[in-house]
Amino acid sequence: MDVDAVVNLVDRIGLETVLTEMAGYIEEDYRRWGEFEKSPRLASHSPDGVIELMPTSDGQAFAFKYVNGHPANTAKGLQTVVGFGVLASVSTGYPELIAEMTITTALRTAATSAMAARHLARDDASTMAIIGLGAQSEFQAHAFRAVLGVRRLRVYDVDPSATRKFLANMRDLGFEITVARSAAEAVLGADIVTTVTADKAQNHILSDNMVGAGMHLNAVGGDCPGKTELAADILRRGEVFVEFTPQTRIEGEIQQLEPDFPVTELWQVMSGKAPGRRGAEQITIFDSVGFAIEDFSALRYLRDRMVEAGDGTRLNLLAAPTDPRDLFGLLTAREHPATPVAV
Ligand code: NAD
Repeated sequence: MDVDAVVNLVDRIGLETVLTEMAGYIEEDYRRWGEFEKSPRLASHSPDGVIELMPTSDGQAFAFKYVNGHPANTAKGLQTVVGFGVLASVSTGYPELIAEMTITTALRTAATSAMAARHLARDDASTMAIIGLGAQSEFQAHAFRAVLGVRRLRVYDVDPSATRKFLANMRDLGFEITVARSAAEAVLGADIVTTVTADKAQNHILSDNMVGAGMHLNAVGGDCPGKTELAADILRRGEVFVEFTPQTRIEGEIQQLEPDFPVTELWQVMSGKAPGRRGAEQITIFDSVGFAIEDFSALRYLRDRMVEAGDGTRLNLLAAPTDPRDLFGLLTAREHPATPVAV
């Protein structure tokens, strides 16, 4: 499934339905957490960014995503994050789906954020601040409306052109949007705060005094060593929820804290093994970095919809000689197509 196939799928099904259904697939897989092979992703760091491989398997299917994170790319006219993924059969090892995962990563990241917030934000949450109005931002807004009914947005970006792009994309869609002049102004009166900035630095997009009782923080942009968005004090005031602890300790906001700082894994909340929000005053923090199971779920979702509707293109990617042991014959068949073998 290339970019056009994913765009067509979203067009056919509807963005907010896709986000809701994808959140359902992710939650389903989080509830069977024990069935998956899990490891922190393999990351190759450079001064400009990171290239990562994210594998997992549930014993039936194997998936991996190739993804990067290069904050300076937008200045070169390139995406900060691009990716593609593979879903394969464990019983044969044959890949079944190769899919674009740039749009799909934005979908699955927003779906995961909304799924987490459904368990962690206050039930009466109606206003979300979004700090960072880049590639991920509209997807986050749509996911929170689809899954939690949040329509009121308070938004801020350091770059006015990002704000203009966001407003143009979100015009006439039924959102009530207030543009703030600073992150501090954006979070005023917000029940949920999404930070989704890109900068390879230990930033304080939110400082402790900006975070009020009862807020849910959806911290998406800090996802790599040396790249964080929240002041450490905030993490100590609230309860921190993570995807896969060994990976988040390396990449998430909690890299700023001692290695045994207590956190709760989301799957524990999804499967009723740990409480989510424990009261209206509690500060909850989803320290999102992106985990392989979410990509597995997203690929599973694309595969199921592709099979239903016949999206996608069949690639001649896997050699298939008539006699499986005669791989060499594929090379010679073209050169000597008419030479019969006497038996
Ligand atoms: P992007 O480069 O398209 O957008 C980032 C935006 O943040 C830009 O508009 C930039 O001007 C703004 N920004 C930077 N510093 C800011 C500041 N101090 N205050 C306000 N705005 C600021 O990037 P993107 O593709 O939208 O990704 C955003 C971040 O999310 C990246 O760091 C990326 O690595 C991360 N990400 C995380 C996950 C996950 O699963 N957790 C998934 C995808 C992307």
